[in-house]
Amino acid sequence: MHTVLMETSRRVRVRVKPGARRTHVGGRYDGPHGPALVVAVTAPAVEGKATRAVMEAVAQAFGVSSRQVSLVSGERSRDKIIEVSGTLVEERLQELLDDAASADVSKSARRKARTKATGTRSRASSAMTKTSAASTTDTTENAKVNSKTVSKQTKPEEGRPTMNASDVATSQAPDFAERASALVVRDDEDAWTAEELAEVHRELTADAKRLREELDLATIELADLLRDSGDGAGDDQAEVGSKAFEREHELSLTNNTRDLLIQTERALARIDDGTYGVCEGCGQPIGKARLLAFPRATLCVSCKQKEERH
Ligand SMILES: [Zn+2]
Repeated sequence: MHTVLMETSRRVRVRVKPGARRTHVGGRYDGPHGPALVVAVTAPAVEGKATRAVMEAVAQAFGVSSRQVSLVSGERSRDKIIEVSGTLVEERLQELLDDAASADVSKSARRKARTKATGTRSRASSAMTKTSAASTTDTTENAKVNSKTVSKQTKPEEGRPTMNASDVATSQAPDFAERASALVVRDDEDAWTAEELAEVHRELTADAKRLREELDLATIELADLLRDSGDGAGDDQAEVGSKAFEREHELSLTNNTRDLLIQTERALARIDDGTYGVCEGCGQPIGKARLLAFPRATLCVSCKQKEERH
């Protein structure tokens, strides 16, 4: 017998972007008190309207009811602390924070973000320190998060290299029925259906493609940044600092992307060899529900929790 997932609660640091073009939750904002989850809402920042929208968006992003989220502090601030209760809150938070690296960004959106940053820098080079570099981060992450949201709903997006569900399914066309029935599940779960496995496979395949493109682009941009740093004779101190900051940011994004790509490819390989769903820690089933939520999971909940305590 397996125990039901325990409900826990956790305080989540949130950075609000009011007046956004659309609502989305995801991405990391390196705020003064550590990493915060970026929550963009369309509501303007007036009289608690944005705060209500934020609470709603956060509840949705964590897959919990609005009664399971409560505002701890920051009612009138863009930096809020929200308490979220539910199962797997911690895991979901990590996924949401990492969203920026895992999500797609079209080349044009990313170029635009870069161009904008460059413009800001040349106009106000002395003021260009962490502040505007951070807003660049924001723009880039939001662009990515947007397309992630879109791709999850499998709606096509303009300017995005399209790889729709049926393309993937038909180009790969593995026998999901046979594979699904061979996968382990927990005692209290139904076996995988062909549709469920096909959906997970489709999502992972699309992620892998997107991450590969992202990585290619990042490699080019890093080369640009490194070249820029070579001819910095005429730059003032602030500009040199901001370039270093940008480069570091780009490097960490690239590393996140590479890690995610590796995890994604491993998950696909495990689906292929039939070991998908076996916990790498204890050999017990990870659980279908957990994999549907976190298709890249390699550990069951208890092994994951043990790992996190270290
Ligand atoms: Zn385990």
